[in-house]
Amino acid sequence: MDKKDKILKDCKKDKYALFGNPVSHSLSPKIYSHFSKTFKINFSYSLVKAQRDDFEKEIMVFFNNDCSRGANITIPFKERVVNCCNHLTDRSKLTRTVNVIKKLKDNSLLGDNTDGVGLIYDLKKKNFIKPKSIVLILGAGGAAKGIISSLLVDFGCSIFLLNRTIKRAELLVKMFKHLGDIRILEEGKIKHFERPFDLIINATSCSMNNIVPTFPSCFIDSNTYCYDLFYSDQDTSFLRFCKNNGAIQLSDGKGMLIAQAAYSYFFWYNMFPDISNTVQVVFCS
Ligand code: NAP
Repeated sequence: MDKKDKILKDCKKDKYALFGNPVSHSLSPKIYSHFSKTFKINFSYSLVKAQRDDFEKEIMVFFNNDCSRGANITIPFKERVVNCCNHLTDRSKLTRTVNVIKKLKDNSLLGDNTDGVGLIYDLKKKNFIKPKSIVLILGAGGAAKGIISSLLVDFGCSIFLLNRTIKRAELLVKMFKHLGDIRILEEGKIKHFERPFDLIINATSCSMNNIVPTFPSCFIDSNTYCYDLFYSDQDTSFLRFCKNNGAIQLSDGKGMLIAQAAYSYFFWYNMFPDISNTVQVVFCS
């Protein structure tokens, strides 16, 4: 048995952690505990509220522990953590973001992003997306960055981006235009696009503060699917706005949260959990 195999054997539990700030509200421990019971794999999963100045150091300390195997990364570190990884999957190279890390046998770190595939999984399950859907994405932050390539590549969607800070939207168009049809919807030119979208995705953090990003109600009709990446026990502020303006098909981001975790689990263990009832288990118990 070589030294590495002996260390792996001596670890009573594999160590995983979520790094972010804030993290105390996170449901990830509950989700992974549910997956672990299914596969009878016992691992520890802790929450690390990383400080902005110390984030890279905290990642290093965690992965220097012989028993650490992997980590999830959340707001606001998904972009910064790219520099902590020795290798990136193609998805992470494309999005330049990482939400999950795996320690490889030689102790190097491989980063991946499962947000995009997690979103697509949930949109497909809910029949919210069809090939070539015309999609409005509100927001141009880390989450928007993580989901755009999946929508362009997997579904050939046409994407319109609307963001409070136009420069950030321009940056995303520059990053992803080689993958398909993506353009900015400028506030001054909105009136030239007075038609409902097939799908509107709220990738801003507005619902966290119970507000709605500015966009005209004529973008919504009864056929428009409205999806908020944010999730809550009640309808989010964005979903309430959409409902009040005629939308019928509404969803928050609970399903995406579960699906991105399932893809992270698959990345670590090469096994995909059955997530058909995980939303109920995690949110209703
Ligand atoms: P982020 O990088 O901080 O980006 C925030 C975005 O929201 C930016 O586009 C920002 O616009 C916009 N915004 C913030 N306040 C606004 C306001 N008052 N009016 C208009 N726009 C505003 O955050 P993120 O990581 O992208 O996360 C965004 C949301 O997605 C969060 O609610 C997060 O919880 C959710 N999320 C959910 C999942 C899931 O699994 N369900 C996964 C990832 C993220 P500016 O560029 O102008 O600042």
